[in-house]
Amino acid sequence: MPQGFRLLIIAGVHGQEPQSAFLLEKISNDFTLVEKEPCRVFSSSKNDLEIYSIPRFNEYGLLNKIRGNENKVDLNRNLPAGNWSKEFSHIDYNPGPIAASEPETKKLVSLIKGFEPDLIISIHTNHFVTVKHPPQVNFDGELESHGFKLAQMLSELINLELTCDIGYSTPGSLGSYAKDLKIPCITLELDDELDNDESLERYEMPLKKFLGAVYKAQ
Ligand SMILES: [Zn+2]
Repeated sequence: MPQGFRLLIIAGVHGQEPQSAFLLEKISNDFTLVEKEPCRVFSSSKNDLEIYSIPRFNEYGLLNKIRGNENKVDLNRNLPAGNWSKEFSHIDYNPGPIAASEPETKKLVSLIKGFEPDLIISIHTNHFVTVKHPPQVNFDGELESHGFKLAQMLSELINLELTCDIGYSTPGSLGSYAKDLKIPCITLELDDELDNDESLERYEMPLKKFLGAVYKAQ
């Protein structure tokens, strides 16, 4: 484990996946609020483990129960990844007029550039638009890396299958952007059929155990 491990955790990217936001808010409840606009950012620092947490990345989408943000842009297709494309197969995948057009995306990009995380965890549910996929721990990055070992550990703790290909292309996604920057990224796709309380019951302890294991390893 490298010294000074930095972890970025984000949830509530899609407004119809409120369970992800609920879960990360609970996990971040003793973190310090460091930024408010366009989305609240919390931080925590214990020994050499630093965490930045964004539980409600797409505040507008969460409040209005829609996938996109105020401009109906899918924030997980708007990152300035090399594979960003203005083409889209479904209106719910609207990537925006240009890469990083949205205020939320700009904030995330500047945070990633300033914080330089060693690992990104992006929490979603398996709520789907066109392609149904099971709940899973999806990993973007090198298979021989420390990040992959952490993804394996999380997969075991949370009892969800570890995959490296979600089964469809995700241009402009956070996973694609992180891959460009060589930052390992875990996209956690929780079971969408569970409500907020059920998600908390099912996933809170495994996630806390995971963070505890990362913390202890420092
Ligand atoms: Zn999602």
